[in-house]
Amino acid sequence: MYGKPESSDSMKRLKPLRRFRLTFWFFSCLQLPLYATSADLPLEHAAPGGIVIVPINAGNAQTHDAQKDEVEPLVHFYGNRVMVVRSSGTTPGWLAVVGIARSAKPGTHSIDIQWRTPAGLNKKKTSKQPFEVQNKSYPEQHIEIKNKRLVNPEKRDMSRISQEYREMKRAFVHWSPAGKDALKMDWPVRGPISSPFGLTRFFNQQPRLPHSGIDIAATEGTPVKAPKSGRVVATGHYFFNGNTVILDHGQGLVSMFCHLERIDVGVTQVIKRAEQLGTVGQTGRATGPHLHWSLNLNNVRIDPMLFLSDTLQLIEQPTR
Ligand SMILES: [Zn+2]
Repeated sequence: MYGKPESSDSMKRLKPLRRFRLTFWFFSCLQLPLYATSADLPLEHAAPGGIVIVPINAGNAQTHDAQKDEVEPLVHFYGNRVMVVRSSGTTPGWLAVVGIARSAKPGTHSIDIQWRTPAGLNKKKTSKQPFEVQNKSYPEQHIEIKNKRLVNPEKRDMSRISQEYREMKRAFVHWSPAGKDALKMDWPVRGPISSPFGLTRFFNQQPRLPHSGIDIAATEGTPVKAPKSGRVVATGHYFFNGNTVILDHGQGLVSMFCHLERIDVGVTQVIKRAEQLGTVGQTGRATGPHLHWSLNLNNVRIDPMLFLSDTLQLIEQPTR
């Protein structure tokens, strides 16, 4: 959706600005959000577990030739490829939508930009674009799990756990072109947030990794729907996460849905926004029926709330 517009001979004869306006008008008529306005973009939250939207536009003459603005630059952040969308407005340019790890240190970070021409990568044109990440402290959460094996796995569980970890890791770095629907996402299931993103966690008084997604409480069997179109890249019954579906939405945006009662999709299946992918359950390490939804952007877990088109539920308080 945010890719390079199709070119044709007649389009090439037009002056760049006129061409841009025409292209914009054409895709506006098709209602394809090729050019991201602030309404299309996720919420910016320049903190660990958040998102920073970094403009990388043609205004920077040292790093970018305005005439070659049509080609999407290649952007990386700590070696992971970053989502890039067209910015809207009178000055054509690009925006990097950068996921910030929950473990990121506050301070200055930078993305690596490689400019491209229609012929390919322009090896002589690389640049760095710095940005700031603020400090954020997340509250603690203490959870009691009756099945101790799910807190301190036995030796015989370890090979299964590490194999599942490798499978998830592979799925999270999956890169595919942008999908054709809007960038923002819908709720996969409606319900109160029973555990928000990022909490510093303790299971049976033992410190564990922070909460990597949001928990949405819902009754067992409630349909879980794709928050955005995508391709299923992994499914399985994982040791900690229970029945799990991993869905690649394109450009490094990858969802993971856990603790499902039932999985209704298979690997490589392409599913549309709002299509059912399974039902809410409490499989794996869960204290009650809920959907755990993790969202990966450039291979880091970010708060999925930032990508929701309807954040009315932000005002709801944790219930358990
Ligand atoms: Zn969770």
